[in-house]
Amino acid sequence: MTAKIIDGKAIAANLRASVKSETHRLTAAHGIVPGLAVVLVGDNAASKTYVTSKSRAVVEVGMRPLDYHLPAATGEAELLALVKALNADPAVSGILVQLPLPPQIHTARVLNSIDPEKDVDGFHPLNAGRLMTGLPALVPCTPVACLKLIKSVHSSLVGIDALMVGRSHIVGNPLAQVLLNENATVSVAHTHTRNLPDYCRRAELLCVAIGCAEFIRGDWIKPGATVIDVGINRVTDGSGKSRIVGDVNFAEAAEVAGAITPVPGGVGPMTIVSLLVNTLHAACAQAGLPPPAV
Ligand code: NAD
Repeated sequence: MTAKIIDGKAIAANLRASVKSETHRLTAAHGIVPGLAVVLVGDNAASKTYVTSKSRAVVEVGMRPLDYHLPAATGEAELLALVKALNADPAVSGILVQLPLPPQIHTARVLNSIDPEKDVDGFHPLNAGRLMTGLPALVPCTPVACLKLIKSVHSSLVGIDALMVGRSHIVGNPLAQVLLNENATVSVAHTHTRNLPDYCRRAELLCVAIGCAEFIRGDWIKPGATVIDVGINRVTDGSGKSRIVGDVNFAEAAEVAGAITPVPGGVGPMTIVSLLVNTLHAACAQAGLPPPAV
């Protein structure tokens, strides 16, 4: 193996420690305990697991978890009323509505009702627009996580040839914009892209978020490139054993790349810490304080 493994767990642990000390500083100096409201509607097992680990992470860094678990039959009006109350509550610095929502609820209407200053998932169109126009914004957690991992390898992205494969509103689009704001030269590939392997071979920085197990092959990768694999895919081998793999064929890619994130242990552990980073930024901005040093 030639590639340096970008250790998301270790980088996340360091970042968590910084968030904790900045949170304590905020509390000691200004009496502010950032509060994160996490709203879960229904009993989706994966969502429940995410929500539990988010609340645990919030407590660990000295923030206040505010958990709301509503029944699966909750109507849209009821959820909108809760968001409105959280928007108005000064103890709430950030609001996260766990997706997916049940079918009777219009997801965009709910996400768009969150106060953009408390929109720690960064999904509100105002934050998307602010990111696009280079204004300070709450940026979706996974792109924030990816940038921190990339910065562990590259101190500057100025002029680097970057390819973003995938253009979802949660990962691909905002990550492409984040890289552009760092002055990278950014291309975006998607399902309609012709000759994807050729585009990949030109990229010094290859970011992939497509949700297709081990889709990107080793011989698509430019020697020495940095590879950020966002994908989380569960696959089952011949013996019926299941495991998690990324969107990149790790074994092949690690022989060619200069640096690569593993799956699991790369982007995943960083994403929840990025939520804490966003919550801390939101709390400081709401109090009229300068941004924290994380
Ligand atoms: P999505 O399905 O919303 O979007 C996938 C994007 O990839 C689309 O823009 C589509 O055009 C593109 N795409 C799909 N197949 C392609 C192909 N064969 N060639 C080129 N482009 C293709 O997915 P998403 O929400 O962006 O998530 C992508 C992956 O990242 C999933 O595996 C998801 O589980 C994972 N994910 C991980 C984290 C994390 O914290 N590590 C966070 C969010 C998503």
